[in-house]
Amino acid sequence: MNLGMISNYVKAKWSKGLTEKKVDVTTKDIRLLSCFGNGDDITVCPALRPSERKMGKFFCGECGCGDKATTWLNGTEEEYTKLDHPYLSCPRKMPGFSDYETGKKSYEGDSRKIQIELTLGGEVLQNKKLVKPEMSEEEKTKLAKAEKEKQSEKASVGCPSCKIKAQVRDEIIEKLRREENIEPNFKDPTFNTRFQKLFSADPRVVQANKEIAEKKTNEDGGCSSCAAKKKLRDEITKEFENSGLSGEKLKNKINDEFAKRLREAQRKESS
Ligand code: SF4
Repeated sequence: MNLGMISNYVKAKWSKGLTEKKVDVTTKDIRLLSCFGNGDDITVCPALRPSERKMGKFFCGECGCGDKATTWLNGTEEEYTKLDHPYLSCPRKMPGFSDYETGKKSYEGDSRKIQIELTLGGEVLQNKKLVKPEMSEEEKTKLAKAEKEKQSEKASVGCPSCKIKAQVRDEIIEKLRREENIEPNFKDPTFNTRFQKLFSADPRVVQANKEIAEKKTNEDGGCSSCAAKKKLRDEITKEFENSGLSGEKLKNKINDEFAKRLREAQRKESS
């Protein structure tokens, strides 16, 4: 499944909503015509495939969603089939689907589509809600918000190097709490200095930082979370270049500032 397919799949799932609302019955009939033809002069779509998992079920062989119960195109009235999703994409952009595009006479591959359009007639074709159902503005906003949340969740999880660093971070916080009775508070210079000392000396962190740096020099990018943190740290290091501080003091100052700005950025992102 490529990114476009995943995006279309997510949109379809989203449009179903928690209440499992179904598309207008007429639109579903138009989709059925697009996929299965009319058993007469309109043939079945060349992309239609019989299921190998359940006899009598069919799926679209071009959309990349595969052969499974949630992607079968036909079912009983009670079942929620793929064609019931209010928003649904079709690889051939056929009538009834949300990305429907009018058939072009100049393109031979559109002859079946044009035949379907002629069967539906002008009045139906002009009714965009029937032949090209789109998401409401409210649904689009909700989807955009959900996708943004998913992206930021993904970025915060990060690559294996990020995960190791996050694990070490948690272990040190726990160790300080248990063995030294210090509660985590990155705004407190005492806690911060103690934490940074243990964190930067941990061999797993040293190795993870090395891997992150190698990814950058190899230009294979690393994860977006690593890249953003590295950019922030580089900016702060540059800012304090001529501050008059050096050695441990400079290192601690950069670490404090880094932790502060990272917290601010994370707070802004989650608000
Ligand atoms: S290409 Fe479109 S019309 Fe054809 S089977 Fe797939 S979803 Fe149905």
